[in-house]
Amino acid sequence: METSSDFQVSELINVGNFINEWDDTARSCCQKLVEGTNQQYALARRMNITEETVDELTDVCSVDALLTGKEPQKETLYKQIPEDLDLYCTRFQKYELERRKDFGYKQMVARNMKYSLSENIKCSDHRQEVMTKTKSPVLCPNIVLTVCVHRPYIPGPYSKLRQDDTFLVLGTQKLTELRDVVTCVSDLSVAGDFSDNPDLTAISSAKDIFKSGFFFMEGIFYDDMRDPLNIRYSKEIIEWASEPSHGQNTYVAKNMEDTRFSDLTVRLGQPYLYMHQGNCEHIIIISDIRLLHSSDPHELQSYPFKVLNNRTRRTVCRACMTGTARWMVEKSHLTPDSPNFLCNVCFKMLLYDKNNKKIGNFEAKKFFDSAVK
Ligand SMILES: [Zn+2]
Ligand SMILES: [Zn+2]
Repeated sequence: METSSDFQVSELINVGNFINEWDDTARSCCQKLVEGTNQQYALARRMNITEETVDELTDVCSVDALLTGKEPQKETLYKQIPEDLDLYCTRFQKYELERRKDFGYKQMVARNMKYSLSENIKCSDHRQEVMTKTKSPVLCPNIVLTVCVHRPYIPGPYSKLRQDDTFLVLGTQKLTELRDVVTCVSDLSVAGDFSDNPDLTAISSAKDIFKSGFFFMEGIFYDDMRDPLNIRYSKEIIEWASEPSHGQNTYVAKNMEDTRFSDLTVRLGQPYLYMHQGNCEHIIIISDIRLLHSSDPHELQSYPFKVLNNRTRRTVCRACMTGTARWMVEKSHLTPDSPNFLCNVCFKMLLYDKNNKKIGNFEAKKFFDSAVK
């Protein structure tokens, strides 16, 4: 590991060569494990130990070996802390249980836990979607990269870099396959005032119209040029950087749709850039590269596989304080401030009469919440 400015990053890793650096036995074991055959004895032979030793180690290192048989039930552990137990963690648990007897505090905790926790998911909704598609097995052995995508960064005194979704991608996948699953409110936004026709649904979002974008990693721009109308964003940046006053003439441009993850040479932990919609910039970080193993999904269609969904609080409707805001209303004499955020129901009830005519001369824009995108 080496230190580069504020970040801890690894040496450069050629993703394609990574798989070749593994021993044949390890690679074939990964393959067999994925295929459902237990190959631990093959590793034992490689390590010059007997099969009996492997069996013994399996028993001794089993998670079950940690249990004494006297463990309290889960429910009891949380709610009834034994009197003779004096650990730091149980002291805090006791204190917290006392505090939660206060109804207001209990509600506040429930509210916070509902909307601001990171959720570790083996993304069931995504799996469900995959189940309906034709399944084909993942090629083995294969490489799995963990890619963390961050929210758009808007510079400011209180700006923070916030992680959004984390995906597992295969070495054999193209960069465009990752790009297609990254969600951002900039892609969902729809420009214009819809107050005269709020029920209009056949409208194109920014993602359907402006399809250009690029990844920037280790001095190489990977532009999405799948659509003939796409703009090669990198062209002007490379020209600007190669001017004598800027002195950076090593940047090159490639096509995102022609590049697989196995073609990359990257550093773990290094912040890279994903840019789309003209100026929406996301930091992406590759945090891990490893061989595919038995606990990974085996269907090719499951990838990129979302493993972490980082949720934040949603923007609630300012009228009912319950629904999620779907409209941003400006210049209305009926709302206390401008802009005002309303859900679909309150928007219609407050700002339209029984004949569906707008009340007053306001403007309404569709609002997309990053927490419920
Ligand atoms: Zn974005
Ligand atoms: Zn409402």
